[in-house]
Amino acid sequence: MKRKIAILGSTGSIGTQTLDVVRQHRDLFEVELISANNNIALLEEQAREFDVNNVVVCNPDRYAELSSALSDTDSKVFAGIDSLCELAAADEVQIVVGAMVGFSGLRPTLAALQAGKIVALANKETLVAAGAIVTRTMRENEGVILPVDSEHSAIFQCLLAARGNAVEKIHLTASGGPFRTWTREQIATATKDQALKHPNWSMGAKVTIDSSTMMNKGFEVIEARWLFDIPAERINVVVHPESVIHSMVEFEDGAVIAQLASPDMREPIGFALSFPARISVGNRKLDFGTLGNLSFSNADIWRFPCLALAYEAIRRGGNAPCALNAANEVAVDAFLHDRIGFYDIARICEDALAGLNFAENPSLDDIFATNAEVAAKASESIRR
Ligand code: MG
Repeated sequence: MKRKIAILGSTGSIGTQTLDVVRQHRDLFEVELISANNNIALLEEQAREFDVNNVVVCNPDRYAELSSALSDTDSKVFAGIDSLCELAAADEVQIVVGAMVGFSGLRPTLAALQAGKIVALANKETLVAAGAIVTRTMRENEGVILPVDSEHSAIFQCLLAARGNAVEKIHLTASGGPFRTWTREQIATATKDQALKHPNWSMGAKVTIDSSTMMNKGFEVIEARWLFDIPAERINVVVHPESVIHSMVEFEDGAVIAQLASPDMREPIGFALSFPARISVGNRKLDFGTLGNLSFSNADIWRFPCLALAYEAIRRGGNAPCALNAANEVAVDAFLHDRIGFYDIARICEDALAGLNFAENPSLDDIFATNAEVAAKASESIRR
């Protein structure tokens, strides 16, 4: 029996790498659904190559174009996020790959979990913005979240060795990004092009900028808190520039289990798609004879204040992480359009937390309201 997959965000970095894994294992997987916001040309190409049943373009203005592009195929074409939510929850789908960028992934992820699906989750902002609601929805509907984020896939793999023993600590590794060795003064003048040059990982623009500010690592702390139900104080960020160890789990006896692989997202994607089996994914294997040294150091929150802001947000709880994510999305977008400087990203996020209309136990409506309010405020402050 082939596993039937829905890929939400199939034209992005995770989406295309997911399809590359599927391409190598056509006997194991079938693509039932793909979606993208605007990239009609690639959606069409993917729909044809993988003979996809349902294709969704989230931007309804592009529906006619996609529909005519696929008119000679068996693919059915839909538009809008409501269609995406409905189709991701359909009986035909077994695994939903959450590869959308940012807050926009929240609704379809919840729809898939409500339907009890296995969600292979790359879209960490979903857990940052609404971790309590997402994990509750998962439990109540017997859904499953399998991590695709490489660190969380590593932790998940390490935990397979826990055999019921309590976890003392999680060591979340961070490459340190392109500015790891820069001074604060140098980082202050960093440009978009410099921030987009990640030393080890090939990723989309949003997550690459988040890596350069280390907000990505902060979000991953929040993500780990929800995925593994462990308080943030016991999640330690360790800078490991070689990106060979993808994360580690420490037990009471001081034993530390690490997961290693070459930095290639197809490894965690493949493990999530085929779990509990392992499959080849076409990545480079580690060659320990030529690997050289692995190094480790503490993260520096003076140069990377976004990391501290994420710890602050999860400590406050409620809608604070949602606000942090909303401000960050607006700030990163502005930075990518050369409208603000590098440290303005942290400043805008800090302002969002300081001015937050706090809700301790936010409902889903509260989360959407917080996201909209904070984003509007952040946009306004950038305009000024
Ligand atoms: Mg990661």
